[in-house]
Amino acid sequence: MKNSNKKLECPICGSMNLDQIHDRIWSAPDKKVYYCKDCLVGFLNPMMTKAEEKTFYAAYNEHTKKRGVTVTTDPLEFHQKSVPEALIRWERINHFFKEGSRILEVGGSTGAFLEICSQVCECVCVEPDSLNRKFASQFCIAQYEYIEDVPDSEKFDVICLFHVFEHIQNPGAFLKKCSQLIKDGGFIIIEVPHIEDPLLSVYDLKAYKDFYFQPMHHYIYSAKALKHVFESGGFFEKEIIYCQRYGLDNHLAWLKKGKPGGDPKLTELFGNNTEYCSVLENTGKTDTIMYVAAKER
Ligand SMILES: [Zn+2]
Repeated sequence: MKNSNKKLECPICGSMNLDQIHDRIWSAPDKKVYYCKDCLVGFLNPMMTKAEEKTFYAAYNEHTKKRGVTVTTDPLEFHQKSVPEALIRWERINHFFKEGSRILEVGGSTGAFLEICSQVCECVCVEPDSLNRKFASQFCIAQYEYIEDVPDSEKFDVICLFHVFEHIQNPGAFLKKCSQLIKDGGFIIIEVPHIEDPLLSVYDLKAYKDFYFQPMHHYIYSAKALKHVFESGGFFEKEIIYCQRYGLDNHLAWLKKGKPGGDPKLTELFGNNTEYCSVLENTGKTDTIMYVAAKER
């Protein structure tokens, strides 16, 4: 892929059996989205260079502001907004967190998940944003800026990443570091956007694709692609959890308006509907997938 004369290969499984599924991505019309028909992953091409990535993350708040996603630079406000989702997450995976377990969360932000988790476990956090890291420190015994800073002598029962793994351009190298840090018998738990998002896989909505594909999400994973990535990194599949974060009201608003932000009338009517999400979760057609892999079979 580095050589432009070379035929494009899937960066996950190496297949050339690819389809272009979108001809632009949000804020970067020169990039295209491909889909691998073998491991079912979506990926961007070209991906950002290291230098582009640095510039991009330096202006990350600008990026999210432009997208109309509510941004607050106040850690407390951000933290409070993150708690409900962290509670839902905890309910889904708390069976992996035993009393006294050592946990490392990579990309822990203000620590909404760690606040809950630290009530039973000993937590360590990796968070590049200094304000968020400082805020999260109240729930942790140690904090680091990057995972590379965590000494290999540190060992954890669980490493978790929520909406972080899709930002990692070289998942193989990342898993190698994780493998050094996880105890034998330990787990890695990730939550990422899922290629089977109904607005893509069921409704095939162009307006959504224009918004959804973004330069920092290098991959949109499938269960099959995750199995490939983790097995290549020496891990074994333990559990897959399909999660639908957005409800019927959000999907109808997308179909009605072709843009994010919802619609108060639709929220009033369908905001409490849980059946729609249940159907999607039971069939694996969800916007989000959680993947649990074990270091030992
Ligand atoms: Zn592939």
